[in-house]
Amino acid sequence: MLKLDISTDKLWVSAQEIKTSAEATNWSKQIAKHQNVQFSIVGESKLKRDLVALDIYTGDPKGKEIIVVLSRQHPPEVTGYLAMQSFVDELLKDHRLAKDFRNKYRILVYPLLNPDGVDLGHWRHNAGGIDLNRDWGYYRQKEVNAIVNDIVNRAKISKSKVILGLDFHSTQTDLYYSFSDDMHSSIYPFKDYWMHAIDDAIPNYTPDDKPYPLNQPISKGWFFKQFNAESLTYEIGDETPRDFIDLKARIAAKEMMRLLILR
Ligand SMILES: [Zn+2]
Repeated sequence: MLKLDISTDKLWVSAQEIKTSAEATNWSKQIAKHQNVQFSIVGESKLKRDLVALDIYTGDPKGKEIIVVLSRQHPPEVTGYLAMQSFVDELLKDHRLAKDFRNKYRILVYPLLNPDGVDLGHWRHNAGGIDLNRDWGYYRQKEVNAIVNDIVNRAKISKSKVILGLDFHSTQTDLYYSFSDDMHSSIYPFKDYWMHAIDDAIPNYTPDDKPYPLNQPISKGWFFKQFNAESLTYEIGDETPRDFIDLKARIAAKEMMRLLILR
């Protein structure tokens, strides 16, 4: 039970750490101090908040295959956002694996898809009253439309293929919503190897792989339909310990890099 002392002053109540759109922009600018990262604004939300992108690679982007990272379509899903931050941070490390990875691949990161919903404390919707993760295929919402266009344009300009899309969310428990076995992406069966590698790398933890067929216009299906790319919804429990979120995201990033570098 929660008891509150209320007065005429405004009282904010939050079940998770408060991570506003300003925080996401500051974090993105901080990350963009790395020489392999370019920061840009790729559009605006319905209420005119910036939509930010980070473009990560070394040298010439031409022909480099692309991994896309999305986060925070759903405002309260802070633990997924925290995982995304650790995941991206690991891709930017100075170790050999990450350097080789940035040389071979390009990573597009959209850290906050729903800035209006986040700042206004919405449960699931954007300022248009729509669940953004049900708009991939309709593109009726400015946020999805801007980000879809940005991904497609960047891939076209550099003649690159998108091979993997990762969308970070939160729910009751840690799990991975993946493709059902009949869906073969261009990097099939990457997912099975990745889940095994994460499993082997973390004692006393087994990834909860939940495959299901495409039946809704969500980002996972869009990556498959648009690019024949692999895609997973990376779900973190709302109450997963923060140090474990960080550890698992870094291991997931390392194992992804190890597997993809071998292609
Ligand atoms: Zn979600």
